[in-house]
Amino acid sequence: MVETVVSVGLAVQEHLKIRKQVIRPLPPTGAEKRFCVVTGIHGDELEGQYVCYELIRRIRERMENLKGVVELYPALNPLGLDSVTRGVPGFDLDMNRTFPGEAQTSMPEHVAHKIVMDLAGADLCLDLHASNIFLREIPQVRMSAETADRLLPYARKLNVDFVWVYEAATVLESTLAHSLNAMGVPTLVVEMGVGMRITEQYVFQLVDGIFALMKEMGIWEGETAKPKEPIVSRDGEVGFVSAGRPGIFAPCVRHWINVEKGELIGRILNPLEGTVEEEVFSPLRGCCSRCGNTRWCPRVPCWPGCWEVITGEKGTDLVPARPVPGGYGGLRLPFRQRGQGRLRGGSPEGQRGAADVRLLPAGEGPDRAGSQGGHCEQQ
Ligand SMILES: [Zn+2]
Repeated sequence: MVETVVSVGLAVQEHLKIRKQVIRPLPPTGAEKRFCVVTGIHGDELEGQYVCYELIRRIRERMENLKGVVELYPALNPLGLDSVTRGVPGFDLDMNRTFPGEAQTSMPEHVAHKIVMDLAGADLCLDLHASNIFLREIPQVRMSAETADRLLPYARKLNVDFVWVYEAATVLESTLAHSLNAMGVPTLVVEMGVGMRITEQYVFQLVDGIFALMKEMGIWEGETAKPKEPIVSRDGEVGFVSAGRPGIFAPCVRHWINVEKGELIGRILNPLEGTVEEEVFSPLRGCCSRCGNTRWCPRVPCWPGCWEVITGEKGTDLVPARPVPGGYGGLRLPFRQRGQGRLRGGSPEGQRGAADVRLLPAGEGPDRAGSQGGHCEQQ
């Protein structure tokens, strides 16, 4: 059954609607667990759309196996998806920097608030992302260290290749996943694939994992695929490669290919001068979990592709915490807004090229910026 989560009037008598597909077992007992899958916060990420379709298709094929309530929210940013735009068109805003939202304010924040209220009480939520147009990521789950004890058992069932447990980062506090976890709704962030593309292989891999996870939760019965054991890495086990010069990144290695420390992984090319600006070597023995803003782990296959240009577009700044409208037991969550940050080069001397400039929260020290390396810009 399709239900409307929120409907907002638009300028010329149209309506923005966030809708969800709710699939209940037959007959319902009223005591079922509730499992939610959300996606489409970023309108240029399409892998999650296919995941929702495939989940519905497979569940309907075997309705007798369904023992819990499954709710699918394919389009949390429908204006963005309709125009294949990452943010919310008309607001120049990353929707995943507006949570938990607020009831009586701008349209995106109002919508964010309604989404959070609707998801409250779920037993588990998956927030599906698809990197961006510059990067390809192997199927992976990301979580903060403070949520790892609770979330890691779920992540191990998801049939992903990689789980990244990172130290708490202020840049993530205005995401949907952070808000839900703070409310007590266990929420996993999945990143996989490429922006503006659909990678069927990854979609089917994750859907197999979702059924394995639902079976573990008692929401699904019947045969499911045995989930692969993911590589779990913490921040100290993941390395980064940053560009010393701007240009076009041409990779020399592929996804899932092991490389040795010091091995050439790509070149940065100057398309105007026809020269090689820089050769990029692996800092570790390992492989790549994503292309672009490459990160290295001794055990995780990596795939550098095109170079990611990190600009101020992806960063916003923190202002002091404020109460969540409506309560949640006095919970206070930080909220982010644009325009109070400071641009800084990737190195203290400012010698790096434009490709490594990031907008950092005011007051964030160089050590912290270096250790975190902008690791979760996509989600
Ligand atoms: Zn995303």
